[in-house]
Amino acid sequence: MPHRVSRRRFLGTVAAGAAAAVTRPATARAAAGGPDGVGEPALLGGRPVRTEAFPSWPIADAREEQALLGVLRSGKWGRGVGEQVKQFERAYAELTGARHCLATANGSTALLTSLYALDVGAGDEVIVPPYTFVATVNAVLLRGALPIFVDTDIETFQIDARRIESAITERTRVIVPVHLGGSAADLDTILAVAQRRRLPVLEDACQAHLGEWKGRKVGTLGQAGCFSFQASKNLNCGEGGAIVTDDPAFVETCYTFHNNSRTRATSGDNFSYRGTGGNFRLTEFQAGILQAQMTRLDAQSRTREANASYLSGLLKEIPGLTPARMYAGCTRNAYHLYMFRYDPAQFASLPRARFLEALKAEGIPAAAGYAPLNKEAFLEDTLTSRGFRRIYGERAFAEWRERSQCPQNDRLCGEAVWLGQTMLLGTRADMDQIAEAARKVSAHAARLAKAG
Ligand SMILES: *Cc1c(COP(=O)(O)O)cnc(C)c1O
Repeated sequence: MPHRVSRRRFLGTVAAGAAAAVTRPATARAAAGGPDGVGEPALLGGRPVRTEAFPSWPIADAREEQALLGVLRSGKWGRGVGEQVKQFERAYAELTGARHCLATANGSTALLTSLYALDVGAGDEVIVPPYTFVATVNAVLLRGALPIFVDTDIETFQIDARRIESAITERTRVIVPVHLGGSAADLDTILAVAQRRRLPVLEDACQAHLGEWKGRKVGTLGQAGCFSFQASKNLNCGEGGAIVTDDPAFVETCYTFHNNSRTRATSGDNFSYRGTGGNFRLTEFQAGILQAQMTRLDAQSRTREANASYLSGLLKEIPGLTPARMYAGCTRNAYHLYMFRYDPAQFASLPRARFLEALKAEGIPAAAGYAPLNKEAFLEDTLTSRGFRRIYGERAFAEWRERSQCPQNDRLCGEAVWLGQTMLLGTRADMDQIAEAARKVSAHAARLAKAG
């Protein structure tokens, strides 16, 4: 018996295997099942649990074609001459419940623009999680500011909100929680600290379209929220982004920054400028595609959520697999990623890389996820660059490194397993196969560990 908890399930599998063995030809029996009935792992020559691909991404039909052709034929391809970007902004504001929305070229420039509007600059500190996509941190660095990492809550994969307050100094300008994977960071705790310390919160909701905290859409609880519509994201137009906020002055500052220092009032040959900025505008084509994609967003999101919660029920039964916990306040998870932790001690010391290989051989593609971002070499290179040394001094990097230890996150980066959002778009039977593959690897972990 490989493990204790799943004895009933294990016996059920044996019974099912035995029943199948009666009706299946001898060759199929040899391929599918060892004597224990869970099947020989594909990595050791057995038959894979699954050979079909998971749903492909993006999903598009005549709606996208019409949107694209409409913009093409209109001859109005850029923001300013057409109506598509403005329409999208109204629709996305309505969807999230925010008063204002500004579309941007991508999620990275949504973050950069928001940090500018929050007056983040050289000499400032910004609180960020280490378990995130690099863009969260790059946006801070591009403003000449210092990212201060607050360790991860290993159970939820989110920033550990209880540790934020002790990372705040007189240089802190903004707190940037990330709703990683589409689940929500602990916004109650974060907003309470922010209020106490009079700091704005900028939500990185780039993975969390339609995610909710206590019934409100994430991205709308802080001063502003940023979204990405990059190709892999749950709402996608190839590249794209948006900022949502309730603050009219804030959105105007964002508009001006994203429009090369030109306000909404200045267009055409009126050349007058305010502040600095760049060109981070969305095109009419992208806005057309986004509106078409939005017609499916809610249904897709419901499918992911239903499949994910069913899958969690199955994976929880396998000793050594722990699905990411959600905070009680997270009333809707966008499931950009399905995340769980893998404990090799419960898998006969089978290393995670080998576990992933074995799953892949079964037809289940899974990933190890992020490495510790706070330890990446590009940070040292940047923080010891000439410009940063001039801002922060020669000893700044050593001090920063002292403050940026994240042991929980280091551990999580060694244990995490991800399934992509498209794997959740299919059927319940797909979830059964994911769990079946994991059970197979679990049952044969010792042999897989030896064979490796
Ligand atoms: C994708 C992503 C971004 C950046 O968005 P882009 O549109 O790719 O620029 C920022 N933060 C997080 C957490 C992301 O997942």
